Amino acid sequence: MIPELIKKNTPQHRMLAVGSLAFDSIQTPAGKVDRILGGSANYFSISASFFTSLNLVGVVGDDFPKSHFEVLKNRGIDLAGLEVAKGETFHWVGEYGKDLNEAKTLSTCLNVFEHFNPKLPESYLDSRYVFLANIDPDLQRSVYGQIKKPVLVAADSMNFWITGKKQSLLQTLELVDLLTINEGEAFQLSGQNNILDAAKRIRAMGPKILVVKQGEYGALLFTDQGIFSAPALPLATVKDPTGAGDTFAGGLMGYIAHEDAGDEIFKDDAILRRAVIFGSVMASFTVEDFGFTNLLRTTHEQVQARYQEFLKMTRF
Ligand code: AMP
Repeated sequence: MIPELIKKNTPQHRMLAVGSLAFDSIQTPAGKVDRILGGSANYFSISASFFTSLNLVGVVGDDFPKSHFEVLKNRGIDLAGLEVAKGETFHWVGEYGKDLNEAKTLSTCLNVFEHFNPKLPESYLDSRYVFLANIDPDLQRSVYGQIKKPVLVAADSMNFWITGKKQSLLQTLELVDLLTINEGEAFQLSGQNNILDAAKRIRAMGPKILVVKQGEYGALLFTDQGIFSAPALPLATVKDPTGAGDTFAGGLMGYIAHEDAGDEIFKDDAILRRAVIFGSVMASFTVEDFGFTNLLRTTHEQVQARYQEFLKMTRF
């Protein structure tokens, strides 16, 4: 059965997200683009906006195109927590070789993120679902510390922070219920090279629910109930994998907030498993074109149709 997907706009489903809003310069075997819009919070919130409304926390420089604010607002993403600071927007430069599962970072300029000290608007403090997207773990904790009583807090991170700010990242992990992370980064974070050992170590660091992203091979979910393995949808065209992880997290967390099952989420994997599939569905749209071009033109009907494809593909 395909879960009904009516976007939830009530306050209890509203989700807070903090992360990067960026200019990305990307080279893949399909082409090269310079300074297109990106960032972990951007991909995450656009993806999650198919399921629920959002409160966005982040900072952009005065070089950031204001027209994008309208795009986000029109999707039910509140921008009261988005600061426009004097200076340049975060800029990431990366490339992919034939193996599209691995991004090579050529440069990361934090720019306005270097001095960002988020102060959440009053209306954000009651957020019940929270996603600390890939960004400085100090910043993730500073946002977490301001929220009153969240039901579920999730986070993502990457090699840049595992290498550069491991102790701070470990402090963040102690606070989160759910972590999404790439397989290679799970090995790096845990110091293990077997996925079961790595999952055990990471879950002991804090997050009871762990989702390991395996790029074109899908994702693994680890909980107290066991392991769930979801494939990725085989696609005829993959142009740019940038943002796939954040889009995946947006589908996953968007569906969790949509269902709003409270503590049940920790006791029964049924919602989490469907959430992993919605994550995979959303990511499949992002990679078909550069940036979030394709995600922005995706419809609810297409999301439902791809969910159906997943059901067909995995039934045996
Ligand atoms: P992913 O979903 O893992 O492909 O994430 C891609 C996005 O992450 C890009 O749009 C980048 O702007 C952003 N990004 C890259 N490096 C960092 C970083 N160190 N901190 C925060 N965001 C980053």
